[in-house]
Amino acid sequence: MREKIVAGNWKMNKTLDEAVALTSDLSESMKSSAKVKVVVCPPSLYLKPIQDVLGENAEIKTGAQNCSEYEVGAYTGEISAAMLQSAGVSYVIIGHSERRQYFNEQPGTLAKKVDLALQHELIPIFCCGEMLDIRERNEHEALVRSQVEKSLFHLPAEAISTIVIAYEPVWAIGTGKTATTQQAQDMHAVIRKHIAGKYGQEVADRMPILYGGSVKPDNAKELFSCPDVDGGLIGGASLKAQDFMAIINAV
Ligand code: PEP
Repeated sequence: MREKIVAGNWKMNKTLDEAVALTSDLSESMKSSAKVKVVVCPPSLYLKPIQDVLGENAEIKTGAQNCSEYEVGAYTGEISAAMLQSAGVSYVIIGHSERRQYFNEQPGTLAKKVDLALQHELIPIFCCGEMLDIRERNEHEALVRSQVEKSLFHLPAEAISTIVIAYEPVWAIGTGKTATTQQAQDMHAVIRKHIAGKYGQEVADRMPILYGGSVKPDNAKELFSCPDVDGGLIGGASLKAQDFMAIINAV
């Protein structure tokens, strides 16, 4: 059976005290629930203090929201995959639409980030997804296939087997507009088929593909019931312990 994952992307939100309080609340609630892997992705500055709060709680892993495309050196402001590894981080989000849109991250850059993440034993959560105009032109399947291809298809099969993909239609991120279950299922199936075409059905069947885009406690169950949806990447609703827990419990 495929792994189920719910990851919270906190983006650029919360003070340190607020982040610690949210982590404590999650840690308390998570003690007896283990059927899903839970990841929190706070701002990088908070990764260490959050790990301290989590302590022995192995139910919740930490992830970064980004990493540098460079290995080491004079890159002011950057955080490398090696640094994340040395700080005990398990996951890293790569290619979030906000990074693509506001920081002009291109597929080649994302491929480098994926490579460095894997070299440093981080699990990439690779994001893909189309803007509204692309969907309206019915070009969303081709676009997402090409996003996956351009940043991941240089990898050998052993490497791709460790990756998590998050399908996040950009028009659904932070907008309150969610993809219908049919739209989510269709796109997840397209991605899985594309992976199968390149790496074989067995690799594709094992790959967790998460849905992201306005997942909330009241729509999570329906989305997660789709056969190819293996959990979610959650933005806004991951900032409240109660909502995030409700989403985790919907898996
Ligand atoms: C995201 O930013 O990855 C996301 C899915 O955000 P939201 O849940 O707020 O739409």
